[in-house]
Amino acid sequence: MTTAGYRVEKVKDLQGTACACSGCAWKGPATLLKEVVKCTLTPGDMSPAGRCPKCDKLAYPDTELHRAQANAEGLEVVLRRLVELDRKLRNGKPGNPAEYEEVLRSGTTLLRKIRGRKRGDASGDAADAA
Ligand SMILES: [Zn+2]
Repeated sequence: MTTAGYRVEKVKDLQGTACACSGCAWKGPATLLKEVVKCTLTPGDMSPAGRCPKCDKLAYPDTELHRAQANAEGLEVVLRRLVELDRKLRNGKPGNPAEYEEVLRSGTTLLRKIRGRKRGDASGDAADAA
């Protein structure tokens, strides 16, 4: 098992491949990305294309696979938070209503985004604006 880390010897030049940031809404060609230099990857993670020019988080090729992975991770976060809120409620400690509303808003936004893509909308923005 690899735990000590390793150095990447060669990176394929993505040229103008469309990329998206994992931390903000930035999207653009790979040519605008900054070098990764150092990062932590877990086996199974996608390879980053570079760092976002706006926020410095890792950015990835903007492919259907990457979008599906990002949606799955977002759904996992929302579901985990809902399970936690449910557990508090069942223990007689309902918690902060604002937190509940925020989780629902996050889940609703994510579902609209996913539904927008399934209808053939490449960006999902039309569903978000509706
Ligand atoms: Zn960013």
